[in-house]
Amino acid sequence: MRYDIVVRDDAYSLSIANKIKLRFKDLHHVQDLLKPELVIFVGGDGTFLRAVHQMMDRLSSVIFLGIHTGTLGFFCEFDERYFFDQLDSLPKWISQSKAYPLIEMVLKNQSIEHHFYAVNEVRIENPFQTFATKVEIDHIELESFRGTGLVISSTLGSSAYNKSLGGAVVDHDVTGIQLTEMATIQNQAFRALGSPLFLSPQRTITLKGTFDKTIFGYDHLLVNQNQKVEEVVVRLSQKKVSLVHHIKTNFISSIKKNFIG
Ligand code: NAP
Ligand code: MN
Repeated sequence: MRYDIVVRDDAYSLSIANKIKLRFKDLHHVQDLLKPELVIFVGGDGTFLRAVHQMMDRLSSVIFLGIHTGTLGFFCEFDERYFFDQLDSLPKWISQSKAYPLIEMVLKNQSIEHHFYAVNEVRIENPFQTFATKVEIDHIELESFRGTGLVISSTLGSSAYNKSLGGAVVDHDVTGIQLTEMATIQNQAFRALGSPLFLSPQRTITLKGTFDKTIFGYDHLLVNQNQKVEEVVVRLSQKKVSLVHHIKTNFISSIKKNFIG
């Protein structure tokens, strides 16, 4: 099998990465940086985000498996010991991976259309001055939002930024998109829902406003562009990421371990 490793830059994670390379060499797996079928990420949830973005152009032919080296994460479900002890089960693990749709953000003006993809969320934010936009859902005007910004997250991302903004943590078996507000101003001219809004997977969110000085974030990344944006469209993408789950992990024990202890 062709594989690659994406590793967080700390001594423990690097030592596991080296151990995987040695074991995989014995098993005649070949490290292939360009066209891996399996990407093992060693580190935390942030390491998963980096691994996915590295493989963004060929996500449909890659499966991701995570080994955690810090506090348990949502995406890295294996620990070092189990991974090496049970490595014979690798084909079985891979056959039981699950695919999750990414969030797609399209930045548009009359002549350009740029697409960005996120595992967790996209974020449209103006930290310098208040940000104002009309929010349409499926071309129906919902509200005039004024505040710091809006975050639109996937189910996988519901436990990340979305949660800090008071959004609901959503069971990974549910598909949909969640819109949360950052520091909303409510007055006579601008009125927004004021609560998180969870939408079905077919819905499209469109923002229309002036986006000067607006920051467009997607996962750990920022859009680097200076063309004028007139419209932002966000929806669930056709692109999916496939993740291997540990047989003993379930969503409830995962939120308990991560958040409650
Ligand atoms: P980071 O600043 O190191 O990450 C923030 C924390 O979020 C880390 O503890 C990270 O876990 C965790 N995390 C990432 N994805 C998660 C998920 N789906 N569920 C639960 N926790 C998750 O930056 P990063 O590691 O590059 O991660 C980028 C993410 O950080 C963004 O996508 C955003 O969701 C989140 N973020 C949150 C806030 C906030 O809550 N105020 C602000 C900025 C960014 P690891 O330590 O295991 O990497
Ligand atoms: Mn991190």
